[in-house]
Amino acid sequence: MASKDPTEVGALLRRLPSVDELLQEPAIKALLARLPRWAILEGIRETLERARRRILAGGAQPEDLGAAAAALAEAAARPSLRRVINATGVILHTNIGRARLPEAALEAAREVGRAYSTLEFDLEAGARGSRQVHVEGLLLRLTGAEAAFAVNNNAAAVLLAINSLAEGREVVVSRGELVEIGGSFRIPDVMRKAGGLLREVGTTNRTHLTDYEAALSERTALLLKVHPSNFAIVGFTAAASLADLVALGKRHHVPVLVDLGSGALADLGPYGITREETVQAVLRQGPDLVTFSGDKLLGGPQAGLVIGRRALVEKLRKNPLARAVRIDKLSLAALEATLRLYLEGPPALEAIPTLRCITLPAAAVRARAEAAAAAVREGGEDLVAEVLPGSSEVGGGASPTEPLPTFLLALRSRSRSAEALEAALRRHDPPVLTRIKDERVLLDLRTVAPDELPALTAALRALAAPET
Ligand SMILES: *Cc1c(COP(=O)(O)O)cnc(C)c1O
Repeated sequence: MASKDPTEVGALLRRLPSVDELLQEPAIKALLARLPRWAILEGIRETLERARRRILAGGAQPEDLGAAAAALAEAAARPSLRRVINATGVILHTNIGRARLPEAALEAAREVGRAYSTLEFDLEAGARGSRQVHVEGLLLRLTGAEAAFAVNNNAAAVLLAINSLAEGREVVVSRGELVEIGGSFRIPDVMRKAGGLLREVGTTNRTHLTDYEAALSERTALLLKVHPSNFAIVGFTAAASLADLVALGKRHHVPVLVDLGSGALADLGPYGITREETVQAVLRQGPDLVTFSGDKLLGGPQAGLVIGRRALVEKLRKNPLARAVRIDKLSLAALEATLRLYLEGPPALEAIPTLRCITLPAAAVRARAEAAAAAVREGGEDLVAEVLPGSSEVGGGASPTEPLPTFLLALRSRSRSAEALEAALRRHDPPVLTRIKDERVLLDLRTVAPDELPALTAALRALAAPET
C-alpha cells in the first residue's frame, strides 16, 4: 500500500461529502421514491465509512460515491430471506428451503396467518381443543396408523420419541446406521441429548439379527432403525430386515422405532425412485413408531411426523418436551392442505411441486432447455449454449444412488470464466443457482418452475449480450 503524506490524507478526508450532501445527489434522490429512508441513510453512511478507511489506508478517494451508496441502499432494503431460482437439479435442497409448497398449502397458511383460527379451539364444544386434530385424522387415513403426532421437524420427532420411550435406558442401533444427516443431525448426538444410552451393534457394513438379539437385556428400551439417508453402503453388506427386527421386538416386548427420514406418501417406483418405500409400506411391516419429515419427499412444510401405536404416541404427547418442539400454526395449515391433496389422489398430486419435479419426463426438461438455449442465442454473442444429457438428484436424503435422467443447459462465456458466469447468475435478481462442470455452467431446468422460466430466460439473455 502506497504511504501518503499525512496532510494529503487529511485533505482527502476533508473533501469527502457529508451525509446531507450525498442525499442531494440525483442518483440518491431518485431512490427516495422507491426505498425506505433508513436504507438510503445506511447505504450513505457505510459508503462514507468505507471511503474513509480506504483513504486512511493510503488509497485514493473512490470515484462514484453516489452509485456505491445507491447499491448498498438497494441491498439494505432487500429482504435477507428471499426467493432464488433453483437450476441445480437437486429437487430437495436443504440450503435453499427443500420443498416448494403447493398453492393450496400457501393459501391455507395465508388464511390462517391473517386471521384468528381454530388452532386449539373446538368450535362444537366451545372449549379448548388440540392443534393435532387438524392433521391426525388425515395421517391415520393415509397411512393406516393407530395414532399420529406432528412436531416441528423430524429431528425433533426422533429426539422426542427417544426421550419419551428410552430416557436413561438403552437404545439398540446398528453401526451401519449411526449416520450424520447434513447440517449436524447425528444419531449418536441426538441419542445423548435425548437421554438414551446408545447400544451399538454389528459392524459398519454388516449387522445381523443375532447382533441385535445379543444386545437385548432388561436395560433395553428401544430398537431403532435409521434410514441411511444420503449415503449407501454397497458391496459386502448385510442388515436385519425391518420385519425380522419387529419379530424380535415382539418376542422381547421391546418397541421398534423407525426414523424413516424422507418419508414418501406416494409410490415413486414408476418414476425410477425404487429405494424409497412408502410410509404406508414401512408401517405394514409392523414397527411401533415411524418418524418422517414434512418437507422432504412428502413435499409439504417443515414438520416432523410420528405415526404408530396409540399408547406410545400418548407418551410423546404427554412429554413436556412436546411443547418445546410443537409445530407452528402456519406449518400446520400448510401440512393439512398438503395431506388433503394426498387424500384426493393422483390428479391432485400434480399440485405438489416436489412430486411434479420428480415425475417430469426428461423429454419435458429437454424442451425447456432447448427453449432457453434459443433465448440465449438470440440474446447475443457472449454465451455459447448447448443442451446435454445429465442427471438430476432427489436430494433430502432420498435415494442418493438413483439419479433421475435429465437434460442440461450448458453455458460457456466468451468473455468470462465459468466461475464468473456462475457468480453473475447467483448475483442476479432473482438469483439463479447453477453448478459448474468441465468449465461450463450447467442449468437443470427440472427444478425451475414453469412460472420462473421467463425470469430465468431474461437473466440469460442479459448475460448473453456482449460485455461493453
Ligand atoms: C432428514 C432426516 C432427519 C432430519 O429431519 P428434519 O425434518 O430435517 O429435521 C432425520 N433422520 C433422517 C434419516 C433424515 O433423513
